[in-house]
Amino acid sequence: MKKYDYVIVGSGLFAGTFAYLATQKDKKCLVIEKRNEIGGNLYCEDMEGIHVHKYGAHIFHTSNKKVWDFVNSLVEFNRYTNSPVANYKGEIYNLPFNMNTFNKMWGCETPAEAKKIIEEQKKVIKGYPQNLEEQAISLVGTDIYKKLIKGYTEKQWGRECKDLPSFIIKRLPVRYIYDNNYFDDKYQGIPIGGYNVLINALFEGCDIETGVDFNKNREKYMGLSEKVLYTGTLDSFYDYCYGNLEYRSLKFETEMLDEENYQGVAVVNYTDRETPYTRIIEHKHFEYGKQEKTVITREYPAEWEEGMEPYYPVNDEKNQMLFNRYKMLADREEKILFGGRLAEYKYYDMDKVIASAFELVERELN
Ligand code: FAD
Ligand code: UDP
Repeated sequence: MKKYDYVIVGSGLFAGTFAYLATQKDKKCLVIEKRNEIGGNLYCEDMEGIHVHKYGAHIFHTSNKKVWDFVNSLVEFNRYTNSPVANYKGEIYNLPFNMNTFNKMWGCETPAEAKKIIEEQKKVIKGYPQNLEEQAISLVGTDIYKKLIKGYTEKQWGRECKDLPSFIIKRLPVRYIYDNNYFDDKYQGIPIGGYNVLINALFEGCDIETGVDFNKNREKYMGLSEKVLYTGTLDSFYDYCYGNLEYRSLKFETEMLDEENYQGVAVVNYTDRETPYTRIIEHKHFEYGKQEKTVITREYPAEWEEGMEPYYPVNDEKNQMLFNRYKMLADREEKILFGGRLAEYKYYDMDKVIASAFELVERELN
């Protein structure tokens, strides 16, 4: 008899969802996390009563009722609706692309006028869009592409829009109504009390070890359980035997300011190419904070190198092919389960991560 049913590598949302549902079924879990705190990218740090999203701003949104009911059974959500603003060289535009954006860009007042302008501008694209640039122009025309998409995207991904897959830009809604809600989903909000409340509820009942890299201590931890769930990167699990998968990383520069309200909104995107950061987050606005001070974070994109956090998979053809080779190795493992944004190399939002964990639970625990 081993001490644990599952050793769970990582303590993000995928690991947490699995751990919670396994614990409910009386499975004993040990969680190994290489960072010094649990929660993966959701972890928040308290600064003067403000929950600072340490690994990037997170807004929960979903149309999946099962996922929404699951998270709400663990924590209550507030009514926060993400409505970021774009700053292009001092010009302010509403996001996502909607009638407010079109009105500011062209002075047009009606959906018909906006559609006419976009139809005219998108004529430069012939045939089915082959990459992010063509997809963006087909959706919103050349003016918005140049001011609000090209610079931001090339900073964010460190690659030309022509070399990026079109699905990235399809994440953003395009609306011919006056509506600045960034997401189309049915449900949206921020956990009341911050994401750590959700995280702590998910891992209740588990043994937890932080500051431990599983890949440097495999023998020890593999011997402790019947099965292992691994939510880190697949290339590191296999010691990069076929070479590195590419990731985008981020550097966060966080500052406490002696003023109450710095930018009037939680997220401002800097969409020109020259400003080195992509966005400034003012954390208190996610929870309608009334503190005297405020905390802001500038987000600088960077190419991933060993020792940095791999935040975004680069899902181009080259990387996808390399990932598929690693996936063939993973599919042959009998004792090890894999899941989450890193191990699946997918640009998943939080709700998709939970849904993916539900699927694993269905296969593994039922
Ligand atoms: P992670 O949260 O990455 O957890 C993996 C954990 O495993 C990490 O804690 C890591 O340290 C640990 N780990 C890795 N390797 C090892 C190892 N070898 N040994 C031990 N531990 C290891 N989604 C939304 O829905 N809304 C948003 O607004 C949103 N904003 C985002 C903003 C940013 C900047 C980023 C990067 C992502 C955002 N996301 C958002 C996506 C969201 O972060 C992910 O969908 C979700 O956190 C992924 O959960 P996960 O458990 O798969 O991975
Ligand atoms: N994007 C853009 N301009 C913006 C915001 C987003 O061009 O002001 C593009 C960019 O390519 C980005 C993609 O849309 O990578 C997806 O944006 P999202 O806000 O979903 O990115 P995330 O929050 O995951 O970083």
